[in-house]
Amino acid sequence: MSQIDTLPPLRDVITRHDLRAKKSLGQNFLLDLNLTARIARAAGDLAGADIIEVGPGPGGLTRGLLAEGARKVLAIEKDGRCLPALAEIGAVYPGRLEVLEGDALEIDPLTHLSPPIKIVANLPYNVGTELLVRWLTPKVWPPFWTSLTLMFQKEVAERIVAKPGTKAYGRLAILAQWRCDARIVLTLPPSAFTPPPKIDSAVVHLTALPEPRFPADQKTLERIVATAFNQRRKMLRASLRGLDPQIEARLERLGIRPTARAEEISLEDFCMLARDFG
Ligand code: SAM
Repeated sequence: MSQIDTLPPLRDVITRHDLRAKKSLGQNFLLDLNLTARIARAAGDLAGADIIEVGPGPGGLTRGLLAEGARKVLAIEKDGRCLPALAEIGAVYPGRLEVLEGDALEIDPLTHLSPPIKIVANLPYNVGTELLVRWLTPKVWPPFWTSLTLMFQKEVAERIVAKPGTKAYGRLAILAQWRCDARIVLTLPPSAFTPPPKIDSAVVHLTALPEPRFPADQKTLERIVATAFNQRRKMLRASLRGLDPQIEARLERLGIRPTARAEEISLEDFCMLARDFG
């Protein structure tokens, strides 16, 4: 196996620092540095970019990001046990790794970074979707980041890139694809991780569009999409009646079939409906 840096193998790092994986923190570590370098490359050109990494753990992906030329990596880690191992990486890349100990849901990393900013992470399963939704719904668009390169359970990754007419299509697909290009760039079996999770994982790469794909008010779109998919097996004329007693006539006027179900409706049509609600 080729070396990406002069640091010891991750298995040795884990043994030396006694980093036994904790399930409560969603710890499934990537120990193959060629694989973490591949994930880092999936984030595009890292030279001249600041990177936010959530949950560096023993630092496999962190090392990939630094070896691939990231200007700076700001890593946010909840598990204090990992900090000595991360400090060893920082010593090999002086001035390029900053580690914040704490909960990524509570830390605002922006004061520490300058644009362009990319987010790259093998996310803890328990907070992954919540972080993604936050990054996709900032107060202003374009957001502070230019791209997100994130590992999820494969099933979540499929929901992010899903197209209409599929079971995976829903709120997450619409939220992601309204203002981003989103694609799965890598699928990994459980055996890629230590300890192996029960399910496959996948890396999704999202690039922020300069403006939404179709115009719509964010809150109105979110309300319509949430209402429609909360009762995804019902026809739209039933699921959306709470928003407008005359919904059937409204849908017909817009050329949307009132008997269609939410999963049959394109992003463009959801945006048209949101604009019609004003
Ligand atoms: N990046 C490492 C890798 O690829 O091997 C570890 C990935 S592991 C799936 C998730 C990491 O996120 C763990 O190191 C865990 O301690 C950390 N973590 C869990 N919850 C967190 C939170 N709320 N904020 C920051 N880090 C968290």
